[in-house]
Amino acid sequence: MSDDVLWEKNIRRVVPYTPGEQPKEKNIIKLNTNENPYPPCKGVKSVLDAFNCDDMRLYPDTGSDVLVTELAKKYKVSKSNIFVGVGSDDVISIAFMTFFNSEKPILFPDITYSFYDVWASVYRIPYETKPLDDNFRINPEDYKTVNGGIIFPNPNAPTGVLESTDIIEDIVKSNPSSVVIIDEAYIDFGGESCMPLINKYDNLLVVQTFSKSRSMAGMRIGFAVGSEKLIKYLNDVKFSVNSYTMNHITQICGAESVKDDEYFNKTLNCIIETREKTKKQLTELGFIFPDSKSNFIFASHNEVPAKYIFDELKKKKIYVRYWDKDKINNYLRITVGTDREMNILIEALREILLKGRNL
Ligand code: PMP
Repeated sequence: MSDDVLWEKNIRRVVPYTPGEQPKEKNIIKLNTNENPYPPCKGVKSVLDAFNCDDMRLYPDTGSDVLVTELAKKYKVSKSNIFVGVGSDDVISIAFMTFFNSEKPILFPDITYSFYDVWASVYRIPYETKPLDDNFRINPEDYKTVNGGIIFPNPNAPTGVLESTDIIEDIVKSNPSSVVIIDEAYIDFGGESCMPLINKYDNLLVVQTFSKSRSMAGMRIGFAVGSEKLIKYLNDVKFSVNSYTMNHITQICGAESVKDDEYFNKTLNCIIETREKTKKQLTELGFIFPDSKSNFIFASHNEVPAKYIFDELKKKKIYVRYWDKDKINNYLRITVGTDREMNILIEALREILLKGRNL
């Protein structure tokens, strides 16, 4: 018998998602949550500087029209093809509630974003994971069985591996009775978005975020692009839970960010260049990793255990991400920071490996 009091028997119990650490200490090198090392574009700062506090008296626009209008222009879709939310976590969570409502299991890879199984549990959605192959690739055939929906990130997280739009189209086409969600949180760092496929398949939902490529993780903006029908269903559920989620200032800041293509491309190119340079340096140090098209590298060393490197890096105030999970417990996920940050990381790794090899 447990010690539960009677009312506790009625509680919805969940094991929550564990986000990466947000250490309070200063002067650290933070490469553990895939944030962007560069500031948001200047337009965002101008909006905040000019903000009139009196505007806060009013409720925000429930349709986030200023933001949706800019997104529609940028991605050449109609406004009715766009849904915005408070980070892509919010968007995906609402999408789980809306589209995954079957007795059949939803499918996602065994190594993937660790929020998917949490949402499935909290909304009581049955799920089944499909193993990635030895190169961390998806086998499209795994996603052609009976299912209540499909979701995976492209590029995948935490591996950084990008699948082609052909593979995605194959999966979407083979599943006319399910909604397929492609989580493109990291697509801007060198992948081809499958967004154009929404014109061909009304069961495809593509989700993106401002947290990585637009340097706005703290502002919380995510969006989904899909057929008018899918977006209408998402809005129906959203407006049945909480209409006023995205605040007024966030809507305007988001719109400013979307307008500034030049800065967007400039910072993306910096991160891609640093990533490619870091890949070479990591290889020279004896690390192996699947090729990454994201803003992180998922690396393993065959002589020195990942957990040891993780702990030693932390002692040097360098934070990366480590999971003590089957199949990936000898890997570190390292976010791509500035050139300077990555040079400090590489020097620290050099010292740690020297020590680790001699233990
Ligand atoms: N999808 C993936 C694959 C991610 O790694 C993240 C970041 N944790 C998210 C979605 C959510 O990001 P956000 O809520 O900041 O948009």
